[in-house]
Amino acid sequence: MVKTSNRHGLLVEPTYGCPEFPRRPALREICVEWVDAVSFWKDRSRLLPALYAAYHLATLAVFILFFARYLSLGAVLVVMGIAIFIATVYNTVWYHRYCTHRAFKFRNIWLPRFFLWTNPICFREESYVIPHRIHHSKSDQAGDPYGPHLGWLGSYLATESQQKINRDLSRQEYDRLAKSLEHIGFPANSYEQSQRTGSVEMGWYSAAPGMFSNLFWSALAYAVSG
Ligand SMILES: [Zn+2]
Repeated sequence: MVKTSNRHGLLVEPTYGCPEFPRRPALREICVEWVDAVSFWKDRSRLLPALYAAYHLATLAVFILFFARYLSLGAVLVVMGIAIFIATVYNTVWYHRYCTHRAFKFRNIWLPRFFLWTNPICFREESYVIPHRIHHSKSDQAGDPYGPHLGWLGSYLATESQQKINRDLSRQEYDRLAKSLEHIGFPANSYEQSQRTGSVEMGWYSAAPGMFSNLFWSALAYAVSG
């Protein structure tokens, strides 16, 4: 668990502050906050969350196309099987148990790299890990980056807000954060680089594994199904 003495914590507060139940952010506040979280025209470090949001929307287009053109019982069963595989292996085992909670160790040091480079979700590991650790330390309270206290839409759209890393961390706080992510297997930014990019993962590494894994799985699916 990463603890920080900084008054803002590891993440930047949402524009609507850190509401505590029963106050929920209003629809307008949620929309303003979401636009702020992807506003790469104001802050270049928001480009990655913006690209992720675009990717997320593109998957909705694929979902609609699937229903319109390829719907059959067999196809639905295959899609459900793939969804269960991704949810179990990459969400539960990789992001949650290994990356966030370090619940186990891999015997072979290449296995974390294998998961990192074949993770098809395109969501950066640090973007899952950092807010999720905060989520456990303040469940459903003020400062929890997602949860029922924000309402369903606020919690859903917090996917982008939770990527706003506080760039005012001290060198010591940043080093501690980077060390807590070391086991994932990506090269970390220096303190100075992190103040520019707002991330721990170094430059091109933020996009390369996601692109590679999508090409890999697409090529495999294409080869299997034609
Ligand atoms: Zn957890």
